[in-house]
Amino acid sequence: MEFVRKLTALFYPERCPYCSALIEATQIACARCYDEIRSKHFPIPAGARGFRCISTFAYDGRVRRMILRLKYHDRTQYIPQIAELLRKDIQSAYSGEEFDFITAVPMYKGDLKKRGYNQSTLLAKELGKRLGLPYFDTIDKIKKTKKQHHLKYQERKTNLNGAFKVIDKDAVKGKRILIIDDIITSGYTLGNCCRVLSRAKPELICCATIASAQNKYPESTVI
Ligand SMILES: [Zn+2]
Repeated sequence: MEFVRKLTALFYPERCPYCSALIEATQIACARCYDEIRSKHFPIPAGARGFRCISTFAYDGRVRRMILRLKYHDRTQYIPQIAELLRKDIQSAYSGEEFDFITAVPMYKGDLKKRGYNQSTLLAKELGKRLGLPYFDTIDKIKKTKKQHHLKYQERKTNLNGAFKVIDKDAVKGKRILIIDDIITSGYTLGNCCRVLSRAKPELICCATIASAQNKYPESTVI
């Protein structure tokens, strides 16, 4: 297996998610980026409209550039390195909780077709492997919405009305759920997903994201 790993690394070398420099397969970032992201790395308590949420990074600098590449430039190869950092934060922030499964904030079908992947789903599946949790799709996005970050604060509230629907209420009832998204900003996207899920009477819903941009939207912090 070691031979196969080395051979694969020769053709598909690992790259630093934050600056694209070549790294060893065992590293989660190059030394320079690692020092910088570690110095700022702490689980940030965020608010998803009253639901518990933690984020690994503030949405800024190298982390912001990494997320943009992950979302819009097909850099899904970063997922294992990012998942490893999130796993540690989830395990420390939610150390008293046990989850039944992990899920992700969905994309509208047309948008998913265009991008070809949902980075939050890929991340949740990778986290599931590392946390020993099965992954299930639990929510459908049934309405095409405008991008939340293009809207004014008041419009953000109504843009997502009726956008999400639970796929199978019986699969959610009484369950302890961990839901993943890439970024939390105003908290309306994750918050709406949590509210829709909560109508199906799960026992617990907790959220985790790679980054939080809530420092830019202090009016929305409603923990
Ligand atoms: Zn780097």
